[in-house]
Amino acid sequence: MAILNDQVALVTGASRGIGAAIVKQLRVMGAKVILAARNQESLTALQLEVDPSKENTETIVCDVSNSSELETLVTTAQARWGRLDILVNNAGVTRDGLLMRMKDEDWDAVLNTNLRSAFVTTRAAAKIMLRQKSGRIINITSVIGVIGNAGQANYAASKAGLIGLTKSTAKELASRGICVNAVAPGYIETDMTAGLSEKVREQILQQIPLQCLGKPEDIAAMVGFLTTPGSRYITGQVFHVDGGMVI
Ligand code: NAP
Repeated sequence: MAILNDQVALVTGASRGIGAAIVKQLRVMGAKVILAARNQESLTALQLEVDPSKENTETIVCDVSNSSELETLVTTAQARWGRLDILVNNAGVTRDGLLMRMKDEDWDAVLNTNLRSAFVTTRAAAKIMLRQKSGRIINITSVIGVIGNAGQANYAASKAGLIGLTKSTAKELASRGICVNAVAPGYIETDMTAGLSEKVREQILQQIPLQCLGKPEDIAAMVGFLTTPGSRYITGQVFHVDGGMVI
C-alpha cells in the first residue's frame, strides 16, 4: 500500500516547475492531489499525466494573490474528499528591481502572491486540520529569504516572511498534531531561472559548492519526506535544498 493512501493534498503553483514535481511525487506516494494555479490548460495536461482517470486529482483555477479565491480554494479542496491532510504553499513570483526604483505595485504583487497567500491558505486549512487533529503544512521559501539578494528586496522579504510564518504557525498548531515546515530551494532549473543570462549563471554557479543548479525533483523529494510518518517529530524547521549554498 502506498504511504499516503487516503490522504488528500493541496498544492498551489502546481502547473509547472517545482509545484508540478511536487504533484508527481505526492501521486507516486499515493495521495489524492488538488492542483491549483492560474493556467487551466497546464493543470489539465499535468492531471492527465499523473491521473488519467481523474479519480484521484482535481484541478482548480485560482489566483493566489486574491484572498477570496483562496478561501474558496481550500473549502472546495476539502469538499471533494471531505478532508485535507497536506498543504503545500508553493506558488511564487518574482518582480525584481533595485530598491530605489521598485514600484509599490511590484512590492505588493510579490508579497501578496508569495506570503499573504500562504497566510490565508494556512488559516483556512488549519480549521480543517485542527478538527482532524493532524496535518502537514509545507511552505516553499527560498535561499534568498535567508541570505538576501540585491534587486530582490520584495522577493527576499516575502520568503523571509514565510519562514517567520512557518515557525509561528508550527508553535501554534503543534499541540494538535499539525507539523509546519519550510523548504528553502537554492537555484533550481525552472521557468523562474530560465531567463538568467550566461554571465549571471556563471556567478551563481560560483556560489554553489555542488557546482550545478538543482532540479524540481530535488525539492519534491524533501517535500515528500515531510509528508511521511518518518517526519512526525519535525516541525518549525527550514530545510535547505541548495547544493550547499547555506552551510
Ligand atoms: P515557476 O516555474 O515560475 O512556477 C510558478 C508556479 O506558481 C506556476 O505553477 C504558476 O502557475 C504559479 N503561480 C504564480 N503566480 C500565481 C498566482 N498568482 N496564483 C496561482 N498560481 C500562481 O516557479 P518555480 O521555480 O517552480 O517556483 C516555485 C516556488 O519555488 C516559488 O515559490 C519560488 O519562489 C520558489 N523557489 C524557486 C527557486 C528556483 O530557483 N526556481 C528557488 C527558490 C525558491 P500559473 O502561471 O499557471 O498560475
